[in-house]
Amino acid sequence: MKPPAPPGCWQPAYIGVGSNLRDPLQQVQNAFESLSALPEVRVVRRSRLYRSPPMGPPDQPDYVNAVAAVLTRSPARMLLEALKSIERAQGREAEPVRWGPRIIDLDLLVYGLHHVDEAGLTVPHRGIAERDFVLRPLADVSPLLEVPGLGRVSTLLARLPAGALQVIDGAH
Ligand code: ADP
Ligand code: MG
Repeated sequence: MKPPAPPGCWQPAYIGVGSNLRDPLQQVQNAFESLSALPEVRVVRRSRLYRSPPMGPPDQPDYVNAVAAVLTRSPARMLLEALKSIERAQGREAEPVRWGPRIIDLDLLVYGLHHVDEAGLTVPHRGIAERDFVLRPLADVSPLLEVPGLGRVSTLLARLPAGALQVIDGAH
C-alpha cells in the first residue's frame, strides 16, 4: 500500500455511478454535476450511460451505470467522504437489503496506483473484474487503464461473457 498522496498532488481517479430509483438517468446526471462542483475534483471524461439488469435481488428496476474519469487532489479517504455526501444529498438512505435498489451509488473504483484496504475503503473497488456495468463504461473513458493488481481494462472486459448491458446515451 502506498502512503496517502500529499495534499495538492493531483491524482487520476475513476468513479462508478449507478442508480435504479427515482429517475435513474437524472440521478446519474445530477451526480456528475455534483462531482464537477467539488473543489478538489476535476471531471476529465464521462462515459456513455448504460442500462443494466440488477446484480442483487432481481425484483428491482434496471440500473443506469456510468463512470467518471477525474483528477483529484483529495486523499482517497476524503474523496470517499465527498462521494458519500453527494449520495446523501441526492436522498440515499441506508438500504435494508444488500445490493438492493438505491437512488444513487458512487464508488471509488481506482485511485492512482494506490491499493487501499482499510475499514470502509477498499481500492481498487471490489468486484471490478467481474462487473460489465463497471468495465464497459471504464473502457469508454480509459480502455488502456491498468487497474492496479488486476490488469488492463480492455483485457478484463474481453474475459467477461456477453451480458445484457445496453448503451443508452452517447459519450461526453
Ligand atoms: P456497494 O457499492 O458495494 O453496493 P454500498 O454503496 O452500500 O455498497 O457501500 C457499502 C460500503 O462500502 C460503504 O459504506 C463504503 O464505506 C464501503 N466502501 C469500501 N470501499 C469503497 C470504495 N472503493 N468506494 C465506495 N465505497 C466503498
Ligand atoms: Mg457504493
